Amino acid sequence: MVKGNKSKIDNLGRVVIPKSIRKALNIDHNDEISLYVENQTLIISKNNSSCNICSEEKVEVQIKDKFLCKNCVQAIKDF
Ligand SMILES: [Zn+2]
Repeated sequence: MVKGNKSKIDNLGRVVIPKSIRKALNIDHNDEISLYVENQTLIISKNNSSCNICSEEKVEVQIKDKFLCKNCVQAIKDF
């Protein structure tokens, strides 16, 4: 687990992601991230540009922190 320093949310709702965490996830400025809440915990994940199952580039669906292409979504539905 990579730990960053504590951050405060400013009056516009912005928060700084500590450098140690950005470095660990290879997050650069202007990168797109996703935010969601699970069990009262805020999760920030870096968007992947490829399917987490087959590595195809065309991601259609995000389920929590997983990115899936159309073919893999269909394969799961057919299972
Ligand atoms: Zn796929």
